[in-house]
Amino acid sequence: MTEPEKINAEPTIAVRGFDHRYAGLDMETQCVHAGMGWERPDVWSPNVPIYNSLVYYFDRIEELDDMIYDKRGGYAYARWGSPTVSALERALSTLEGAEATLACSSGMAAVTLALLGVGLTQNATILCSNDVYGSTYDMVKHTFPTLGGRVVMADFLDLAQLETIFEREHPGVVFFEVMTNPLCKVIDAPAVIGMAHRHGARVIVDNTFTTPYLFNPIAAGADFVCESLSKFIGGHSDLLGGSVSCRQTDLDKLEVLQTQIGNNLDANAAFLALRGLKTFALRLEKHCANGVLVARFLENHPFIERVWYPGLPSHPHHATAKRIFQPGRFGGMMSFELRNGDKDRVFRFINALQFILPAGSLGDVNSLIVYPARTTHHWLSAEELQAIGITPATLRLSVGIESAEDLQADLDRALRV
Ligand code: PLP
Repeated sequence: MTEPEKINAEPTIAVRGFDHRYAGLDMETQCVHAGMGWERPDVWSPNVPIYNSLVYYFDRIEELDDMIYDKRGGYAYARWGSPTVSALERALSTLEGAEATLACSSGMAAVTLALLGVGLTQNATILCSNDVYGSTYDMVKHTFPTLGGRVVMADFLDLAQLETIFEREHPGVVFFEVMTNPLCKVIDAPAVIGMAHRHGARVIVDNTFTTPYLFNPIAAGADFVCESLSKFIGGHSDLLGGSVSCRQTDLDKLEVLQTQIGNNLDANAAFLALRGLKTFALRLEKHCANGVLVARFLENHPFIERVWYPGLPSHPHHATAKRIFQPGRFGGMMSFELRNGDKDRVFRFINALQFILPAGSLGDVNSLIVYPARTTHHWLSAEELQAIGITPATLRLSVGIESAEDLQADLDRALRV
């Protein structure tokens, strides 16, 4: 071990970049090690400390001056960066296979940063999938036009129609989620990214449902990847956070914008995200294994009408999922319909569950269940819900890491009430 160094003593650190010490290693190893141990405090711990500090001091004023004029790295003020947050940013860059990552105060903060940075400032038309997370949909459809943004919404599952929209609208930026909510439809992300680049558009992918464990947007050519750290990456429903990963050449612009709007991640949340990240691959392995077992169980259950899980051959996008996801990985997200279900039956079922919790989130170690018609999609009319395939009997399940047998027993018991 070399002599411990003070936090601002190393002038050349790649603060937010890929941690090359772990290049080429498996994700399990990267999750545990990447990003750590760059800046050394007085004691060397396997965990990066939580720097609850707004400002950072320098021995000599010239050092701060050099930092402000980009002659050296380091930390000066929390909105410009913090050592705890940088450790997370390096870990995420490594996991995403990206040159750089900016951690943000929420998943929506990450989506906003990417869209504002690439979409609005280039005065470009944004082409957005019409099946995206509700707050993203609302922002893109209703808020961006008031800021001068031009937005076109489209069905990204229909590639032929998408091609004609590219030819007609000449979008500068494309935004989509790989797996849709709640029916887990799988967009052919590599095909969409290729199409966008052929038409000269930049691509932002929200990878929250799929995570780097299932799909790597950067490897597929995406320019920007957004993650909500509040979901699978954090994994314990104890933090709100997000990230945007990108190329070094795009980083400057986003860094400046983030310094202006101040949607940075707090050091405490960064610590929790790093803590969650260490078991990310392990947890995701279990989410995926449980996902297959629970989906098969539900599909064969007499009180279930239909199951939407991309790992089942009955899912309309099973072939796409098999082709674009990591081999044998389909995640822990699924939806299912109760046979002859309506709101009363659904409420009775949810109330009868013992440990599968009703909560408007996903990606937690606990299994979480949501009633889309009255939560995530409650503002849609009955006709609009029907048009996208959500019925009064549809439930979304985020399968946790409990025992698959216990999960099946809990579901079975509640279905029989
Ligand atoms: N993107 C997707 C796909 C989501 O499902 C969510 C939240 O559920 C978000 C973004 C926003 O994340 P956060 O709640 O961390 O802002």
